[in-house]
Amino acid sequence: MTQKLTFIPKTHPADDVFESYAFDRLSGKETADLEEHVLLCEICQSKFAQTDDYVRLMKAATLAYVAEQPGCVPHSRKPLL
Ligand SMILES: [Zn+2]
Repeated sequence: MTQKLTFIPKTHPADDVFESYAFDRLSGKETADLEEHVLLCEICQSKFAQTDDYVRLMKAATLAYVAEQPGCVPHSRKPLL
């Protein structure tokens, strides 16, 4: 093991940081900090994988929903009767 030089923050990033990352809402520095931490932290790697799966599911579900509703504009729907 020769990975002693790298600084690992004492605290793990919060769940919402992972979500923000997945949705591309972090700043450049925040992204770099998170990626660096996850690269070195096994706990956060598994957490990150879970968040990633969750976000993928969310995005897939959203896409499926939109695909089912062409235009996706509730006001343009025809009345039922
Ligand atoms: Zn961590």
